Amino acid sequence: MRVGLYPGTFDPVTHGHLDIIARAASLVDRLVIGVAINRDKGPLFTLDERVAMLEAECAAIAGARGIEIRVHPFENLLIDCARDVGASVILRGLRAIADFEYEYQMVGMNRALDPAIETVFLMAEARHQAIASKLVKEIARLGGDVSKFVPPAVHGALRARFGRA
Ligand code: ADP
Repeated sequence: MRVGLYPGTFDPVTHGHLDIIARAASLVDRLVIGVAINRDKGPLFTLDERVAMLEAECAAIAGARGIEIRVHPFENLLIDCARDVGASVILRGLRAIADFEYEYQMVGMNRALDPAIETVFLMAEARHQAIASKLVKEIARLGGDVSKFVPPAVHGALRARFGRA
C-alpha cells in the first residue's frame, strides 16, 4: 500500500492544485493532502475553510480514480507529518523556475532528515501551470474574474470574502 503526501497551504485550492492531485492519485494507493496551518503567511481562508473546500473537490477525484483521498491539517515538520500518515512519497507540484530553488533546498533538507522518504515532482497541464493561489486572491480582491482558475465553489467563496456575493 503506497501512501503519498501532497502538502501545501491551499489558500484557496485552485485548478493547478487539483490537476496535481488527479495526477498524484494515479501514482499512489492512498493520497493524503497535508494542509499547512501557516499562520505566518496570514492565510485569507481559515484552516477549516481550506480543508472543507479541499474535501469537497477531492471527493470527485477520489470517486473517479477509485482511491482514498484524505485531507489532513498539520502544523509540525513536513517529514514528521509524512511519518505520521505513513507516507513513503512526498508529492509536489512544480511550476516555473522560481519554484525550483526552494524545492531544491527542501528536497536536500528533507532527504537529510529522512532518506527513506522520496520527493516526486509533477507538472500540471499547460493551461493550469501559471495558476498561483496568491495571484488568484489578488485578482479576486481587485474584482477580476478568477472563474478559469478555481472551481465554482471556491469562486463563490472568494466573491463572498471580497463582498461581491
Ligand atoms: P506553498 O505554500 O508551499 O506554495 P501551495 O498551496 O501554494 O503551497 O502549493 C502546494 C503545492 O502545489 C506546491 O508544490 C506548489 O508548487 C504546487 N502548485 C500550486 N499551484 C500549482 C500549479 N498551478 N501547477 C503546479 N503545481 C502547483
